[in-house]
Amino acid sequence: MSHEQKYPTPKEFLIDLPLYETITFEDEELEDGRKLFYFDETLDTYCPKCNQHSIFSRHWRGTHTTSSRADSWVNVGRFVVELKCSRNPSHILFFLFTAQGQTIQKIGQLPSIASLNLFDVKKYSKVLEQKYFKELTKSIGLAAHGVGVGSFVYLRRIFEFLIEEAHRKAEASATWDESSYIKARMNEKIQILSSELPHFLVENKSMYSILSKGIHELSENECLAAFPVIKLGIEIILDDKLEKMRRAKKLEEAQKAISALASTI
Ligand SMILES: [Zn+2]
Repeated sequence: MSHEQKYPTPKEFLIDLPLYETITFEDEELEDGRKLFYFDETLDTYCPKCNQHSIFSRHWRGTHTTSSRADSWVNVGRFVVELKCSRNPSHILFFLFTAQGQTIQKIGQLPSIASLNLFDVKKYSKVLEQKYFKELTKSIGLAAHGVGVGSFVYLRRIFEFLIEEAHRKAEASATWDESSYIKARMNEKIQILSSELPHFLVENKSMYSILSKGIHELSENECLAAFPVIKLGIEIILDDKLEKMRRAKKLEEAQKAISALASTI
């Protein structure tokens, strides 16, 4: 999560946050918890029954009242958030939470985080080596079950592999300084490789300083908390590759069309 945004948004809480991670809200931030408890926005996410993205909205069973008090959810115990698909209201996403004191924990959901998230990563199989693509899906599955360190190790390997790809391209340049690169920490490496990496990643490189820590220095919860950020970094690099691939293909098609036209004139 970025500095401006201390707590996961309701969407992140529902769709991205692994099970069992605990989020404790400060007194002045209780409103952020209320937004999840009384979630009443729409949300665009994958519907496994439609097998494509759809717009979901809150599905209330029976009558309900909404309190505007920021602390209305504190210590309520278990609560359910259900969302229904706008294409077919019988397509339900079910989430079970528990609120103990000012701490909220997601303790169950159907469909699983893995099935909600895997659809969105399928496209990356085109630009990521099969071995790493498998690790990416494995990592998402592990994180979905609250396995912090294990899922983090896979993501870290993929991230490092992508950084190494950029390194191999960059070292071909005449001004390349290998010795300072080798000594650099991950956030510094991202800066050094700025010409080969997506701008967003370079702008937010401080987020990746966690990758320079040894696995034994990190707790399960730290790994789970860092998971979405590292996954996002990987997706941004892979989106960039997909975009370049799409562009190269389009240029190639244009070239063919121009040659075909030229031969008829
Ligand atoms: Zn649906």
